[in-house]
Amino acid sequence: METMPPSDEHSTAADLDRVVELLAGKRIAVLSGAGLSTDSGIPDYRGEGRVVRKPMTFQEFRSDPAKRQRYWAGSHLGWRTFAAAVPNDGHRALAELEREGIVTGVITQNVDGLHLRSGSRRVVEIHGSMDRAVCLTCGQVFSRSDLAATLDRANPWIDEPGSVQLQPDGDVEITDVERFVVPDCSVCGGVLKPDVVFFGEFVPAEKFRESVSIVADADALLVVGSSLTVNSGVRLVDHAVRRKHPVVIVNRGTTRSDRRAAVKLDAGTTETLVALASRLGAVVAGTGTGTGTGEPGMIVG
Ligand SMILES: [Zn+2]
Repeated sequence: METMPPSDEHSTAADLDRVVELLAGKRIAVLSGAGLSTDSGIPDYRGEGRVVRKPMTFQEFRSDPAKRQRYWAGSHLGWRTFAAAVPNDGHRALAELEREGIVTGVITQNVDGLHLRSGSRRVVEIHGSMDRAVCLTCGQVFSRSDLAATLDRANPWIDEPGSVQLQPDGDVEITDVERFVVPDCSVCGGVLKPDVVFFGEFVPAEKFRESVSIVADADALLVVGSSLTVNSGVRLVDHAVRRKHPVVIVNRGTTRSDRRAAVKLDAGTTETLVALASRLGAVVAGTGTGTGTGEPGMIVG
C-alpha cells in the first residue's frame, strides 16, 4: 500500500459553489472512507503520511492459532478506542440529509459503526463492522461489547502496568500475547472472527450488489474521506460514471478516481459536509465535532 502524496490543490469557496450547483435537487448516494472518522479520533491508516503495516490475511488468521491470538489481542485493544468514539458533525450531516430525503443511502468502507450510531438508516458496511463478531463454523453473530466483556474477564491482567506497549506508529500492542485467552463460539466451539473483511478477502457479493443498487437509485455519487485505494470503491465510482451521474469527491489528498470526478474538493470532510448540508437544505443539530452524545438509536459500546 503506497502513501498518498500531499496534493497541492486547495479547495476554494468557488469549488463548494460548484458542488452545491451539481448536487442541488438530486438524490445522492454516499461512499465514505476512513477520512470521515478521523475527527472522531479514529486514525486513518491510509491517509497522508501514515505508515501502513502489513495486515494479517484471512488465511493466516484461520490457519494459525498463534496469529489468531495476536490478532484478537490487538483487536481487543482497538475495540476500546472504537467503542469510545462518537460520531462527528460529518456523520450527523449525512444522517440529516437522509432524513430530508436528499441522501438515499450510505456505503461505507469504515468498520467503526459510526454512521448507524449517528442515525443514518440505509447503510451498507462493505467491510463489515467491529460492532459484531461471527463464528466461522456455525455463523452465529455476537455483539462485540458482550464479547469484549468476556475477553476482559478472561484476561484481567491486561490492565496491569506494563501489559500494553505503545508502538512507534501509535498502535498499542499487548506485551505478553501468549497469555491472551480468546474465547471460542459459545454455541458450537468454533473460531470467532470480528465481522470485518480481512486483507485478501472479497467484499461479500450481496453487500456489493446492495451498494450498486444504492448508486443506481440515486442521481449523483458523493465520495467522502476515501482515497479509493480499494477496488470496490473504484468500481462504485465506475458504476456512477457509466450512468452519467456526477461524482463529487471530498478528500484530503489525491484519490484513484480524481480524474473521473466532476468536482474534487481537497478539504476536510466534517466542515465540508456541514456546509453542504446547510446549503442543500438540511440543518445539522450538531454540538461540535466529536463531542455529541449521539442520536436516538445510538449503540453505546
Ligand atoms: Zn459457532
